[in-house]
Amino acid sequence: MGLLLFLFMPYQPAITMDLTQFPRLKLGHFPTPLEPMPRLSALLGGPQLWIKRDDCTGLSSGGNKTRKLEFLMAEALGQKADLVLTQGATQSNHARQTAAAAARLGLGCEILLEDRTGFKDESYRLNGNVLLDRLHGANVSVRPGGTDMNAALLELAARLESQGKRPYVIPGGGSNELGALGYVNAAFEISYQCTQEGLSVDHLVMATGSAGTQAGLVAGFKLLRSSIPVLGIGVRAPKQQQEANVFQLAVRTAELLGHPGVIQPEDVVANCDYVGAGYGLPTESMVEALTLVAEYEGIVLDPVYSGKGMAGLIDLIRKGFFKKSENIIFLHTGGAAGLFGYPGIFSFNAIGQ
Ligand SMILES: *Cc1c(COP(=O)(O)O)cnc(C)c1O
Repeated sequence: MGLLLFLFMPYQPAITMDLTQFPRLKLGHFPTPLEPMPRLSALLGGPQLWIKRDDCTGLSSGGNKTRKLEFLMAEALGQKADLVLTQGATQSNHARQTAAAAARLGLGCEILLEDRTGFKDESYRLNGNVLLDRLHGANVSVRPGGTDMNAALLELAARLESQGKRPYVIPGGGSNELGALGYVNAAFEISYQCTQEGLSVDHLVMATGSAGTQAGLVAGFKLLRSSIPVLGIGVRAPKQQQEANVFQLAVRTAELLGHPGVIQPEDVVANCDYVGAGYGLPTESMVEALTLVAEYEGIVLDPVYSGKGMAGLIDLIRKGFFKKSENIIFLHTGGAAGLFGYPGIFSFNAIGQ
C-alpha cells in the first residue's frame, strides 16, 4: 500500500524562486516579530493564537504597505521618477506609508483620497493618516465617493508629465504583482520563523482589501509547498468578487516569479461576513475585537482592516470553526494611526462627537 501511494504521488519538482532578481529598497524593520497571544487565547478557550507583527514595520508607524513599497519604490527610482502618485480612502494607511517612503527618498508625493464614508467630522477628515500624509510633505486632494480613482490617478499623472515631471503611479493599496512580492517574501519569513519556533501552523488569518497582501502570501506559501491555508477577512467587496481579485493577482504574482499555472482557485478563500454596512464603516464586532486585543494583549488594531479581520477570527472561533488544539496566526497589517480618525467609536469617548 505504501509503495502504491508512493508510485501514485505526483512528482513535485523543487520550485526555485529568486526574489533578488527584483530591485528592492530597505524601508522597513524586518523580520517583524511573531508573538503568542496567551491571554486572548485563554479568554476564548483556544485555539492557540499567534500574531505576526506587521504593524511593526517601522515606516511612519508601520503597516503592511511597507513591504510592497520596498519593491515599488525601487522600480520608481529605477525609472528615475521624481515623484510618486497614489490613491486610497480618506484614512488610507497605504497613502500614509507611501508619503513617508517618498519623504525618505526625496521624491515628491501626490495623494488622491476618495471620500468613501461621507464622515464630516474633523478627526476623520484631518487627523490620523491624513495628518501624517501632510506631515510627510505630500500634496493631498480629496475626491467624492464613487470617483473612478484609477482614472483620476492616470489623469493627474498625464498632467504632471505635461509639466515636465517624471511621475511613477502606484495603484491603490500598492496592489499589483510587483507590490505583492513583498508578501511572497513575508510568506518565506513566516515559514522560517515557524521552523525556528518549532510551530506547526494550521491557519493564517488576515484582513483583505486591495488583495495584494493575501495574493502575495498565497503565492509565497504555494511556491514554498507549504500547506498553511490563508483566510482573508474581507473589508469591502463581496466574497466572490474578493476571491476573484485575490486569485487573479496571485496568478500574476506567481507568473512574475516564473511559475505560471501553480495557483488554483481553491488556494484563495475569503470570508466577507464582517464588512458591516460598508468599507470604513464601524461595526460592533470590530469595536469589541479592538477592545479585547487592547485589553488582553496590549496591542492596538485599526478600525478599517485589522479590527474587522480580528472580529472575523473571534467570531469563527466562537462558532467552533477551528479546533482548540490548532495554532492560528493572525497577521496584524497595521493601521493604528487610522484610529485617531475614529475617536467616537468607543463608548468612553462618544461624548463630544
Ligand atoms: C491595506 C491594508 C490591509 C489590506 O491589505 P491589501 O493588500 O490591500 O488587501 C489590511 N490592513 C491594513 C491596516 C491596511 O492598511
